[in-house]
Amino acid sequence: MDYKIKPKPWILRRFTMPFQWVTFYPNIYMPEGQTLNNALLEHELCHMRQQLKTGKWLYMLKYLFSKKFQYKMEIEAIAVEIFHTAPNLRQHLIQEYALLLISSAYSHCAPSYETALNDLNIAFENIK
Ligand SMILES: [Zn+2]
Repeated sequence: MDYKIKPKPWILRRFTMPFQWVTFYPNIYMPEGQTLNNALLEHELCHMRQQLKTGKWLYMLKYLFSKKFQYKMEIEAIAVEIFHTAPNLRQHLIQEYALLLISSAYSHCAPSYETALNDLNIAFENIK
């Protein structure tokens, strides 16, 4: 899949957390001072496949206005990232993301921490 890595423009810096990556096909917007590791790249490429499947503009609207859609897309992409993460670091990453998914960083899109933990573990088991 063709993609370009670009610095996060001001509009994205304004509306996202400083550490957050943003993918909008065919661009991956990189936060200042961060480096892209392979697992994270796979996460972002998963969002690109989701965008190509849904249509990138419809995807963006649904992502912004439907917590349920955002949650579903993130669970899928995070599961891919976990798959590409060293096994000894996976549970920590799952817990970290479960916390992020109930936070404002992800629009509080997860119903609860426990649900996010459970859904991430199930999604990961399903792609193993
Ligand atoms: Zn994501």
